[in-house]
Amino acid sequence: MTQKLMAAGAGVDLAIADSYNLVSRQFKPEDTVINVMGAKIGGRHLGIMAGPCAVESLEQLLTAARVVKGAGAQFLRGGAYKPRTSPYAFQGLAERGLEFLAEARVQTGLRIVTEVIDASAVELVSHYADVLQIGARNMQNFHLLKMAGRTDKPILLKRGLAATISEWLNAAEYIMSEGNYRVILCERGIRTFETYTRSTLDLGAVAAVKNLSHLPVIVDPSHGTGRWQMVRPMARAAIAAGADGLIIEVHPNPAIALCDGKQSLTPENFSRLMYEVEAIAAIAGKAID
Ligand code: PEP
Ligand code: MN
Repeated sequence: MTQKLMAAGAGVDLAIADSYNLVSRQFKPEDTVINVMGAKIGGRHLGIMAGPCAVESLEQLLTAARVVKGAGAQFLRGGAYKPRTSPYAFQGLAERGLEFLAEARVQTGLRIVTEVIDASAVELVSHYADVLQIGARNMQNFHLLKMAGRTDKPILLKRGLAATISEWLNAAEYIMSEGNYRVILCERGIRTFETYTRSTLDLGAVAAVKNLSHLPVIVDPSHGTGRWQMVRPMARAAIAAGADGLIIEVHPNPAIALCDGKQSLTPENFSRLMYEVEAIAAIAGKAID
C-alpha cells in the first residue's frame, strides 16, 4: 500500500498515509455521503444531531426530542451509558435509557444516536440505535473499534481528548478495516493549556480532515467549549469551516440537567442556532435534508 500511495504523488503526506488507507482521500477522492434512513451526512448534506447529554426520564427525553425535531434536527442524541469522570456522578439509565430512545424514535421519527462504551455492549446498543457513538475516552479502545466495525450501523467516532489528527484517522481505519465504511468523524475539542473552556475546539482539524479524508466530519461545540454561551457562535463557525453537521446538547431545562447542564442549550437557543446554521449552510451550498 505504501508503494501505491507513494506513486499517487504530490501532496501526499507519506508519514500519515503510510498508516491508514481506507479513510484517505487518495483511496477515495470523492466525499462519502452517509445515508441514515433517509438523512444524509457528507457532500452537500448536513446532519444535525441534538438532544440531552444523558437520557434522564422518558418525559425529559420526549420533550427534548419534540423540541429538536421541531427546530429541524434529523437525529436525537442521548446517552444511556455515561462515561463520567467521577464514579459517583450519574452513570446513565442503561438499557432502560435505550428503551426510552427507541420510544422517542417511534413518537418523532428521529434517528437515534447513542454511545456504546464497552465492546461487550455493542450488540445490545446496536439493537436500539441507528448510529453508534464511540466517545472521546474510547477513541483508541481498539477492541471496541473492531467490534463497531463488524456491525451494520453507522459509527460516530469522536476525537480523543488528546488525540492527534493522525491517531483519530487511524481509529477510523480500525472500524473500516473490519468492513464498516460508514464512519462519521466528530471534532469535540482537545486538551490544551487553556482552562476557561472545557476543551479547545479545533476547527482547524475540520479543514485538515476534509483534505486528508473523504469521510464526513461533524462538530460538537457543546463538549468542545463546555459553555452554552459559546455553542451558537462555534456552531456557526463549524459550518463555515466546512463541517458536515453538528451534535448539540439540548435540555428542556438545563438548570436541572443531571449531566452537562452548563453546556446545554435551552429549546429557544437551539431554535436560534438552527436558524443561523441554515443561513450559513445556504452560503456554503449545503442543506439539511
Ligand atoms: C457525549 O457526547 O455525551 C460525550 C460524552 O462526549 P465526548 O465523548 O466527546 O466527551
Ligand atoms: Mn455531555
